[in-house]
Amino acid sequence: MTDCIFCKIIAGEIPSKRVYEDDKIIVINDVAPAAPVHILIIPKEHTENILTAPSGLVLHVQEKLPEILSLAGVGPAGFRLVINTGDEGGQTVKHLHFHILAGKAMGWPPC
Ligand code: AMP
Repeated sequence: MTDCIFCKIIAGEIPSKRVYEDDKIIVINDVAPAAPVHILIIPKEHTENILTAPSGLVLHVQEKLPEILSLAGVGPAGFRLVINTGDEGGQTVKHLHFHILAGKAMGWPPC
C-alpha cells in the first residue's frame, strides 16, 4: 500500500536496521521503544490486522520466534507478545505487526 509506513520500510523507501528477515517477515527495532527490547515482527505482505492475515502466517511467526528472540537478545526471563488490533486496541499502524517487549518486568493490566 502506497501510504503505509511499514510497506515503505519493507520496500526500503524508509531506512531500517533489520534484526531478522526472510521471505515472509521482517523484524525491526521499534522507533519509540517501550521496553529495553522492543522489536516489531512485520509481514511483508500488507494485511491490516490479525483477522485479515493469510493462513500460515501466524504459524510461520511461531516457528521463527526462537531464532528472532535469540537475535534480539531476549533470554529465559521472558517477554511479552502484543498484537494491537483496531482503534480501541491501540493500533496506530494499520499493517499487522507483532510487538515483542522484553528486558524488564511487565505490569498487568497494560492500561
Ligand atoms: P501500534 O500502535 O500497535 O500500531 O504500533 C505501531 C508501532 O510502530 C509503534 O510502537 C511505533 O513506535 C512504531 N513505529 C512507527 N513508525 C516506525 C518506524 N519508522 N520504525 C520503527 N517503528 C515505528
